Amino acid sequence: MEQLTSVLPVHTIRKDFPILDTCVYFDNAATSQKPVEVINSISNFYKNTNANVHRSIHRLGEKATAKYEDARERVRNFINARSVQEIIFTSGTTDSINLVASAFAEKFINEGDSILVTELEHHSNLVPWQLIASRKKATLCFVPLRDDLSYDTEALEKLPWHTIKIAAVSHISNVLGIENNIKSIISHAHGHDVPVLIDAAQSAGHIPIDVQAMDCDFLAFSGHKMCGPLGTGVLYGRERLLEQLPPYRGGGDMIHSVWKDKSSYAHLPCKFEAGTPNIVGAIGLGKAMNYLSRIGITAISDRIYTLSDYFYKATRDIDSIQFLETSEKTHGIFSFVHKIIHPHDLAQYLDSREIAIRAGHHCAQPLHRMLKIPASARVSLYFYNTESEIDCFRTALEEAERFFYV
Ligand code: PMP
Repeated sequence: MEQLTSVLPVHTIRKDFPILDTCVYFDNAATSQKPVEVINSISNFYKNTNANVHRSIHRLGEKATAKYEDARERVRNFINARSVQEIIFTSGTTDSINLVASAFAEKFINEGDSILVTELEHHSNLVPWQLIASRKKATLCFVPLRDDLSYDTEALEKLPWHTIKIAAVSHISNVLGIENNIKSIISHAHGHDVPVLIDAAQSAGHIPIDVQAMDCDFLAFSGHKMCGPLGTGVLYGRERLLEQLPPYRGGGDMIHSVWKDKSSYAHLPCKFEAGTPNIVGAIGLGKAMNYLSRIGITAISDRIYTLSDYFYKATRDIDSIQFLETSEKTHGIFSFVHKIIHPHDLAQYLDSREIAIRAGHHCAQPLHRMLKIPASARVSLYFYNTESEIDCFRTALEEAERFFYV
């Protein structure tokens, strides 16, 4: 196939990711690979700076605290939050959403209320709300979808807004790769004084994120899907709202004063960071954000669109596969079913050709149920993938067909 020229020096960039020499890695929606400077920042911290934060007055403790808080400032800058008080380190999107679900429900959700979600959500942005709904005798309410699975914006105004207390929707679907029309949800919700949580697991580090321009109230994302270490994530929350929420977990660092029978709590963001945090993870995430910013988040986003376009053109003539999302403008994620080969068989065959894809329901069973399929195969691309890897995928897919047809 004709090679598209890319503005990113992809072959130089790939040298930063030694693991990419070992296979064609097309499972980036599950977790991204990590550049050497992020990996090194972890061992450097343990070699030179390891100490707990916010409690020790010795030099190592002060140094560790400074690095940890510097990472928070990098996150603030990366998503253009107004203040570092609005940045809470978590272990990932799941943790961030559970924090909001729990703390918000404690304060604001009562019997008869409802929570607005969609059938497109990852389980992480559905199950925590189901738990809250059953605890509080509230209900889930679903954004109406069109046949092409986009939000039916005309039907939005007809939702029972008087019962809805919060809306929680994903920015980019981890199955379809489409960017959802979160702008319409945010403007309708705000018209009814309903706050909105955005699950940005598949958008942070992939497209530019500006929480002030988006005007969202909460934003949850995972560091490990954007070149950061595993076990890292962020919750952004509007300061005014975070101030009103009760603590999610109790323990060290989240308190101001503790008596035998009661406590007062620390200011933001510590109020939501009980116990020893993943200090080295946060520092690694800060490095990842530096790395992505140096390449340029717009260039990264453009690169993913270029690759997606290449993938779409390289595969659309294959009659034996059917994509769940047919739009040309997907953001690096392609889920599909093969007419004959089960997704797991296909993933296993491709693995024998050193191509890593995902097979299953991708933690989005309601979406798969809606489409009446138990599972799909998924290719998910990131900026360091190449056109020639896509060509290899196509060749291996044709080989798989020959293998399974006999
Ligand atoms: N939401 C979406 C859209 C996702 O893609 C994922 C991860 N696949 C999550 C939430 C959960 O992320 P984590 O496992 O890092 O908490």
